[in-house]
Amino acid sequence: MPADADPTIHVHSVQEEYFYMMVHPCPCGGPWHSESQEMDETGAKVLHPVTARCFKCGKQRTFHFALDERPGPADPIRAVNPTDEASRALDLAEWLDLAQFYLARIERLTEAVEKAQSLLDARQCLEEARKFFGPGDVAPPESALWSDASRRKARKQAEAFRRSTIESMLERLPSMDRLRQVDSMEQKTFKRAVRDRARERVGRKWWQFWKLFRRKS
Ligand SMILES: [Zn+2]
Repeated sequence: MPADADPTIHVHSVQEEYFYMMVHPCPCGGPWHSESQEMDETGAKVLHPVTARCFKCGKQRTFHFALDERPGPADPIRAVNPTDEASRALDLAEWLDLAQFYLARIERLTEAVEKAQSLLDARQCLEEARKFFGPGDVAPPESALWSDASRRKARKQAEAFRRSTIESMLERLPSMDRLRQVDSMEQKTFKRAVRDRARERVGRKWWQFWKLFRRKS
């Protein structure tokens, strides 16, 4: 049995589940590695409990995710949230953190396809951040920041949290279609490269393990 009994986390995609798990690592700081998952489609929502183990300390946790519909093979690759609805799993500050992580990661990558993958993730995280703004909002509305940590961050980095900053970052990134094109053409190459790299470097570059794990579903 899992050590923690978590309330349901409502997500728009399996990709959003992974982002949630990234943003909520083990209390020791270690990243989660999925051990088992089920999909229960009997109710109005698709329940998707994912049991994961910490890479660092071995602690186990079950994440109780719920999706509106079953993910299909025709869904766009790595799609986070095709709707205009703001996320219910992560707040604005968390999406911006993820976007920064993927943008910073591009610096370290050498393969064009890996850069495209990272840009695609960064772009989607920025789009999720933008969804929290209402039509007249210049700065984040209260409903976009769910914790003291997020509110502190938004106060300290007021400029980065402005709608106009997020929009100008989105304008500078290649379009989703273009990024997806590169991404889907190179899936096999990408998968192989990540697998080799993950094998070489466990620990320090754990996010590559994360990518590998993400491919299984
Ligand atoms: Zn741990």
